[in-house]
Amino acid sequence: MTYIITSLCLRDRGCIEVCPVECIVPGEPVEKYPWMYIDPDTCIDCGACIPECPFAAIFPEDEVPLAYIAKGGEFISKVGLAGHFEGTNHHGTRVVLDTVKQLNVGEVVNLRDDIQPNYDFFKSGPGYGAKDQDKGI
Ligand code: SF4
Ligand code: SF4
Repeated sequence: MTYIITSLCLRDRGCIEVCPVECIVPGEPVEKYPWMYIDPDTCIDCGACIPECPFAAIFPEDEVPLAYIAKGGEFISKVGLAGHFEGTNHHGTRVVLDTVKQLNVGEVVNLRDDIQPNYDFFKSGPGYGAKDQDKGI
């Protein structure tokens, strides 16, 4: 198994620092790869990243919700969305995302759609090479 970062990720980066096997990679370019991505071949399922995420974006793969029910006000971040998010990450760096949508209370989102992009990032996308383009957000 592996852990999966879903579209609830807003690039806070807290998870990256606690991963004992350094298998969480910041997506670059952000417009194309808006989340952090977990290398499924290296993740040891330790769960250390979960409590670090302020947006509760990380799940064990078999627990990624098929019908996530929004509390209201949280954002999802996906290529193709056109909303705007501004925040500050774990390091105090400004994070600006223009591929987001703010969810309404009770809105249902299938987060299992976010599993395959995580695998694809390492299989056919930039994978660990994205670290070379890392701009700290
Ligand atoms: S801590 Fe959560 S929001 Fe921050 S980068 Fe990791 S998964 Fe994304
Ligand atoms: S579960 Fe553990 S090994 Fe896997 S990404 Fe999270 S911190 Fe890293």
